[in-house]
Amino acid sequence: MIRISPQRGGWLEVICGPMFSGKSEEMIRRLRRAEIAGQRVVIFKPRIDDRYDAADVVSHAGSRMRAVPVTSVAEIVEHARGYEVVGIDEVQFFEPALVTHALELADRGVRVVVAGLDQDFRRLPFGPMPELLSHAEFVDKLQAVCHRCGGPATTTQRLVDGRPAPYSGETVLVGAAEQYEARCRGCHEPGVGAALAAA
Ligand SMILES: [Zn+2]
Repeated sequence: MIRISPQRGGWLEVICGPMFSGKSEEMIRRLRRAEIAGQRVVIFKPRIDDRYDAADVVSHAGSRMRAVPVTSVAEIVEHARGYEVVGIDEVQFFEPALVTHALELADRGVRVVVAGLDQDFRRLPFGPMPELLSHAEFVDKLQAVCHRCGGPATTTQRLVDGRPAPYSGETVLVGAAEQYEARCRGCHEPGVGAALAAA
C-alpha cells in the first residue's frame, strides 16, 4: 500500500468499517510487519472493551497481539513515548481529544495506525472517527459480508431479541446479550424511532 516510505516523519493510517470486516486483524497484520522490521511497536485499546483477554487486541478471526488497555487519551500520550509505531484499536470509544494527540504523535515522527467502526448501529459517524478520517494520510474502509444477502456490508446491524434495536438505544454496549450483524445498505434496518429522530 505504501510504495515509498518517507525517510522520516510520521503519518496517520485509518482502518475502518463495520463489525466483522477484519479491522483488528488488518491492524495486527500491519503492526506485525513493523515488528519484523525491528521497529518498536505498541497497541492501545480502550478499557471498555473486555470482550476477550483484557491485555490483547483480538480479532474475531483469532489473531492477537499484546495491547495496553487505557481509560483515557492522556494515558496513551504518556505510554507512547519511545515507540515508532503506535496502534490504537476501537478508536470510536475514545473522547474527541484523541484526534489532537494522534496528530501530535504523527508530527513527532510516529506512524499511527488507528482502527475502529466508522458508523454506529444507526449508521451515524462514530466518535472521533470522522475527524481522524479527514486528517489521515492513508484510509482503508473494509467491508464485511452482509449477513442477509451476501453483498458487501458497510453497516453494523444491532439486534435486540432478534429485532432491530430501537434508534434511541445506548450506542456503547460491549458484550451484552444483544447481537450484531454486518449488513449492506439495502439490508440495514433502522430501529423504531429512526424516522422520528430524522424529522
Ligand atoms: Zn444485504
